[in-house]
Amino acid sequence: MKTLLNVLILAALATTAAFADTKVKSGPRKGLILELPGKNAEFFVEKDRTISIAVYDEAMKAQPASTEVITATAETPGGKTKIAFEKKGDLLVSTTPLPEGEGYQVVVQAKPTPDAKTKNFRIKLELHTCGGPCGNPEYACTCDE
Ligand SMILES: [Zn+2]
Repeated sequence: MKTLLNVLILAALATTAAFADTKVKSGPRKGLILELPGKNAEFFVEKDRTISIAVYDEAMKAQPASTEVITATAETPGGKTKIAFEKKGDLLVSTTPLPEGEGYQVVVQAKPTPDAKTKNFRIKLELHTCGGPCGNPEYACTCDE
């Protein structure tokens, strides 16, 4: 009986750990937090469909964009579109808007400094506001489903 209980506890712990890893985090602008080594980047789609990225330190204190290198690829059914970013004020803003439509994947390639390893984030572009308690855009929804 004791063994079975231990197995159950281990299983419960494993489930919790896996869940914590995939937990979506959103930022102060209701965007999606992309975790980079030593900092956080917040992916947010503006009304004009450009993407803006805000940068925070590990404790989520806002800081101006500096050495980050960000590119994105919109993988629409019609093909892939590369999206470049430039610094605008404290943010990194895409130089072109996202292609029309939604439901497709946006792959964001981000690194905190030019010589760091690139991290890929796959984001499903769903722009409507979540109907759940988070009230974020659906791509940044943090509700437990
Ligand atoms: Zn939600």
